Amino acid sequence: SIQKGLKVLCDGDAMPFVEEQKMAEPVQVVVANEDDHEFVLDEVTLERILLQENIRDLNVVVVSVAGAFRKGKSFLLDFMLRYMYNQKSDFWLGGNDEPLTGFSWRGGCERETTGILAWSEVFVVEKPDGNKVAVLLIDTQGAFDSQSTIKDCATLFALSTMISSVQVYNLSQNVQEDDLQHLQLFTEYGRLAMEEVYLKPFQSLVFLIRDWSYPYEHAYGLEGGKTFLEKRLQVKQNQHEELQNVRKHIHSCFSNISCFLLPHPGLKVATNPNFDGRLNDIDHEFKKELINLVPLLLAPENLVEKEISGSKVTCRDLVQYFKAYMKIYQG
Ligand code: GDP
Ligand code: MG
Repeated sequence: SIQKGLKVLCDGDAMPFVEEQKMAEPVQVVVANEDDHEFVLDEVTLERILLQENIRDLNVVVVSVAGAFRKGKSFLLDFMLRYMYNQKSDFWLGGNDEPLTGFSWRGGCERETTGILAWSEVFVVEKPDGNKVAVLLIDTQGAFDSQSTIKDCATLFALSTMISSVQVYNLSQNVQEDDLQHLQLFTEYGRLAMEEVYLKPFQSLVFLIRDWSYPYEHAYGLEGGKTFLEKRLQVKQNQHEELQNVRKHIHSCFSNISCFLLPHPGLKVATNPNFDGRLNDIDHEFKKELINLVPLLLAPENLVEKEISGSKVTCRDLVQYFKAYMKIYQG
């Protein structure tokens, strides 16, 4: 039915698409103070989101998209929102001429501040086993342009990795050695903060490679991503020790690591200043893969509940953990 949905969309069958997200908005919960390299948690905002009566006692699922600026994170998150708001529809991707809204993703309206943003509405989803869970979407953005910002970023990414059950590491074109080293740094911070914790401190990590341009070597999607990542994360005998260590370290930190290869969305998306996110202007191949990617992260049967020290945590618990983790970095 997903394929059917896409076909209808691509045939230009514009269907009215209900915009239910007017009241909700992205809110900054962690703000970076660039002058003294400190992070501040907006506790009032966090509590306003996570202590809402209908969700505070539900187990929480936290899906984070993290990475550098200008790499399409917000654009992806907006499609994730469409999925969450239209779960029961085959046409969740939206109408052909409909501008994309949610986490703002166009230049101009978005200040490039480092920090963690959350969608103010926490979604209630019933899993196939009948249990209801609360789904929180977060956007973690950092800059990697100087040594000091790399260190700040590592702290920020460690934080968002600790509070999320799925961390989507959004990368452009390929996995570079730099990206792995950054990841090692993030996870090292996280590990230090969770010293007495059992073996694998983090849950799922998804490498999301944007603008993948070698589909003939590794096909788009999850399967191609798997073979690509296996090759990229392979520890080889003749490899430099440092390169070996990065790889071993990443494997030792996460219970589950996967990779998804996403095609280029087309020139209008990448370069046209008037592009407003409408499906008509996005390449078919990209939409086809998006329809596979988003449910992999958010379909009720795929939702991963957040666990800390082996136990599931509620939204209410998450507030406490979040505060505790912040203290570690401020201390
Ligand atoms: P963010 O800063 O990571 O949140 O990036 P945005 O979502 O704001 O997107 C930055 C720019 O990249 C926008 O002009 C988007 O239209 C464009 N964009 C979104 N997704 C992609 C993608 O997969 N590939 C390319 N090349 N551009 C994209
Ligand atoms: Mg953004």
